[in-house]
Amino acid sequence: MKIFKKKKCKICKTKTGTRFCMRKGFDICWEDCNILRVDEQCPNECEYHLQSSEIMQLKGKSDSQMEYIDLLKKQMALWITKPQKIFNDQIPITMAESSEGKKKIEEFLNQFKINPIVPLNYLKERLSLDELKVDSTPKTYEDHALEFMQHLYTNEWEKVTSFMINNEYWQSNKLNDKFVARIAANKVIKKISSFDLISSALTKEKDQALVYYDVNNKYDLTINLKLINNSWKVRSIIIGKPELFNSESEAIQQVAILLSKNESTKAYELLKKYSSIYISSSDFEYYWGLYYTFTKNQKKAEYHFMHAMILDPTFIEAKYNYAFIQHSNGELKQAKEFYYEILKDAPNEPKTLNNLASLLIDEKNYKEAEKLLQGCIKNNPDFELAKQNLERLEKVKS
Ligand SMILES: [Zn+2]
Repeated sequence: MKIFKKKKCKICKTKTGTRFCMRKGFDICWEDCNILRVDEQCPNECEYHLQSSEIMQLKGKSDSQMEYIDLLKKQMALWITKPQKIFNDQIPITMAESSEGKKKIEEFLNQFKINPIVPLNYLKERLSLDELKVDSTPKTYEDHALEFMQHLYTNEWEKVTSFMINNEYWQSNKLNDKFVARIAANKVIKKISSFDLISSALTKEKDQALVYYDVNNKYDLTINLKLINNSWKVRSIIIGKPELFNSESEAIQQVAILLSKNESTKAYELLKKYSSIYISSSDFEYYWGLYYTFTKNQKKAEYHFMHAMILDPTFIEAKYNYAFIQHSNGELKQAKEFYYEILKDAPNEPKTLNNLASLLIDEKNYKEAEKLLQGCIKNNPDFELAKQNLERLEKVKS
């Protein structure tokens, strides 16, 4: 997490300077880069320099759709003020003063099949081209990310959760409040006073996206979205740059190794660091749970296993550990509920079959207990605890 303010753009002095401008010799923001490069006079050495191109066809790098659209608008703004060969060197903005001129421009533009992301509405409005056909622009993953950020900014938590991938599960299990309490308490999230889009990227399969924001000119925040049934949902939030998305599994592995070697002090340090970055990761919550199990703090272990399964309702191991703590605490109704929930997703999970059977023996539900134990031993013939429970069952039955 960055503590010091980032370097500001030396032109607008408000946004963060995210790229070095070869024309100016200092860092600037992408908005100011667009203002400069639209004249196509930037040095070729700059990766953002714009090559001479036709209207609505940009040859130059953009870090986000928002930047690309902004650049197209700036290109259009320039295009309408200059003599155009296609119109025998007439200037579009002057042509648009007569209906005949407008018609010529409309005919010219209507002949193209234009990508719906192109802000054709801008030309339509600037030149009052009433007859210009404009498709409605589709909502992109950036639009979704932006709405999500706005809800975070205004603390509209119900709307925030409605964007999350697990919202339906939370709704039906009344877990929304727990997620909200978690996210609303985050040091960065609760302090958002401004945010600017820096960049975004889509996976090759086009079903996952990362949208990177600068928050308060101080923090990095990346939103990971996934396309589910044709709608974009927020899968995770990272307090950091988008590169961190790819190193999450490595970070998880580091913690897992330290815990398996019993190096709990080092594990604690890493868990602290990573869970302040991967704030919605079920894995780090799970490893916190293990950490507190090893260090014999059952209350905290319970808390973290619960959060791991809230963040990922399909996380069997987290749910099992949570249920097991309930079981050991004598919260049998709760434990049973979660054991059954696990078996719905993983009907052969041996520890769950065994523990649930043990619980059912205590409740004198011998028939159901036997069924579970038989099923468990069939797939895991060497599972000693299950064999012992079956023996116990035979004894209490007779
Ligand atoms: Zn700027």
